[in-house]
Amino acid sequence: MNALNLEQERRAVVIGAGIGGIALAIRLQAGGVPTTLVEARDKPGGRAYVYQDQGFTFDAGPTVITDPSAIEELFTAAGKRMSDYVELLPVAPFYRLCWEDGSHFDYANDQEALDRQIHARNPADVAGYRRFLAYSEAVMQEGYLKLGAVPFLSFRSMVQAGPQLARLQAWRSVYGMVSRFIQDEHLRQVFSFHSLLVGGNPFATSSIYTLIHALERRWGVWFPRGGTGALVAGLVRLFEDLGGRLELNAPVERIRVDGGRAIGVQLQGGSLLRADRIASNADVVHTYDKLLGHEARGKDEAKRLKSKRFSMSLIVVHFGLRRRHEQLQHHTVCFGARYRELIQEIFKGPMAEDFSLYLHAPCVTDPSLAPPGCGSHYVLAPVPHLGHAPVDWEVEGPRYRDRIFDYLERRYIPNLRADLVTSRVFTPADFRDQLGAHLGSAFSLEPVLTQSAWFRPHNRDAVIPNLYLAGAGTHPGAGVPGVIGSAKATARLMLEDMT
Ligand SMILES: Cc1cc2nc3c(=O)[nH]c(=O)nc-3n(C[C@H](O)[C@H](O)[C@H](O)COP(=O)(O)OP(=O)(O)OC[C@H]3O[C@@H](n4cnc5c(N)ncnc54)[C@H](O)[C@@H]3O)c2cc1C
Repeated sequence: MNALNLEQERRAVVIGAGIGGIALAIRLQAGGVPTTLVEARDKPGGRAYVYQDQGFTFDAGPTVITDPSAIEELFTAAGKRMSDYVELLPVAPFYRLCWEDGSHFDYANDQEALDRQIHARNPADVAGYRRFLAYSEAVMQEGYLKLGAVPFLSFRSMVQAGPQLARLQAWRSVYGMVSRFIQDEHLRQVFSFHSLLVGGNPFATSSIYTLIHALERRWGVWFPRGGTGALVAGLVRLFEDLGGRLELNAPVERIRVDGGRAIGVQLQGGSLLRADRIASNADVVHTYDKLLGHEARGKDEAKRLKSKRFSMSLIVVHFGLRRRHEQLQHHTVCFGARYRELIQEIFKGPMAEDFSLYLHAPCVTDPSLAPPGCGSHYVLAPVPHLGHAPVDWEVEGPRYRDRIFDYLERRYIPNLRADLVTSRVFTPADFRDQLGAHLGSAFSLEPVLTQSAWFRPHNRDAVIPNLYLAGAGTHPGAGVPGVIGSAKATARLMLEDMT
C-alpha cells in the first residue's frame, strides 16, 4: 500500500466539537490519524459555548473545572505544554452554599475552616466528615482513576468491576451514603448536591458519584483565565497546531454505511466527507435516530435508548450588570426551602413553582469577562426535561427568568434590575433545538447504576465496527472530566483498531 492509500485508510471524522469531541480529535491527531472535526454550530464547545454581548463574556455551560490533570494529559499526549495554551486560576472558596434561613457554608480546600464550620452545625459530624472523605477518596481511586477511562465493551468487564463496586456499596445513593456519615441535614446537602453537576439525582444516583468530592479536595476547583471558552479555544488551537481540521457550520445529516461499515458523513447540502473511522460526540439518541435512522441498526438502537431514563434539563439565564457585587463568591448554590421533594420533582416532574439555583459570578476570579467595574453572571435552575414537563418555554422562559431575578434581587443581588445591561435565556427547548439533546436533557442519560459503565452506550458500536461514540452519553458520563475520560477510552479503541 502506498503512503497516500495508507493515509486515506487512517482518516477519521469526529461529529461534534463538544469538549469530548475535541479531546477525542486531539488524541487521534496526536496518534498520527488525520482527523476532521465537524460541528453544526458557528463555534466549538457544545454545552461549553460562549456568548459575547456588549463587552460581557458569558460561558454557556461548565464553570467548575475539576481534575486539571485530565486536561493537562491531553497536552502531554500531544507533546505540548498546557501553560502555552491555557491558564487555570484557582477558585476559593470552591463554593458558597446558602440557605433561606440566612446561613451559609463556605466549602473550601482548608481542613481547619471546614472543621470549624461543620463543628458549628453539629460537632459529631466533624469525625463523620473525615470518614466520608476517606470513603470518597477510595471511590475516586476505584471508580475514577482505575475505571474512568476503561471502555466497558463486554458484560465480562462489568462483572470484573463487580467486587470493587460491591465493596464500595455502589448500590446506595449519594444522599444515602452521605447520611451514613453525617447527621445534620444542611451538611448532608453540602456533601450530596455534587451529583447534580453531572445530571445525577443525589437520591437515586450511585454513591460512586461521591468521588466528585474527593476529586475537588485532591486537585482543587479551577477556572480558566478568559472563561471556559478560553479552555475550548486552547484545545481547538492544540488540535489545529497538530494539523487537525475543524469545520464549523457543518451539520452532519447522516452517517453513510456501506457493506456494514461506516464510509463517511453526509453534510447538510449533500457533500460527503469520507473516512475510515467515524466517531460521534453528538447526543446519543440524535446519533442513532437522526444520523443513522436510515439503517436498521440506527432504528433499533434509537428505540432502545429512548426507553432509558434521561437527566433533568436546566434553564440558564445569562446577565450582565453595570456594577460589581463584591459580596458574591465565584460559585454560589442557593438552596430553596425544599431539597428532597424539589429534587424528586426535577427528575420526575411536574414543574415546581419553587427552585434552587446555582449562581455564577466569574468576575470574582477574572474581571476581564466584563467591561471595567461591571459583572458578568449566569444563574441556572434545574428543571424537568421535556418528557416530564412539556412546558411551552417560549412563554415560560421569560416568566421564569423574571421570577429568578425577583428572588436574586431579594436575597443576593440588590438592585439587579436597575443595573441590568443585558440578559439572555437558554431553556430546555434550546437544549433540544440547538444541541439536538433528546428531551432537552442537559446531561444525556441519567447516571444511575443501571445506566453506567457497560450499561451505558458503548464507546464502539456493537454492530458497525468502525463507528464510535464519545461524550456525555457514553462511559463514564457527563462533566468535563467525564467526557475527557470517555474521549480517552474511545481514542484508545480507535487507535488499537487501526494498528
Ligand atoms: C449549564 C451547564 C453547566 C454545566 N456545568 C458543569 C461544570 O461546572 N463542570 C463540569 O464538569 N460539567 C458541567 N456541565 C456538564 C458538561 O458541560 C457536559 O457534560 C459536557 O460539556 C458535554 O460535552 P460533550 O463532549 O458530551 O459534548 P456537547 O457539549 O454535548 O457537544 C456536542 C456537540 O455536537 C454538536 N452536534 C450535535 N449534532 C450534530 C450534527 N448532526 N452535526 C455536527 N455537530 C453536531 C453540537 O452542536 C455540540 O457542539 C454543565 C452542563 C451544562 C449544560
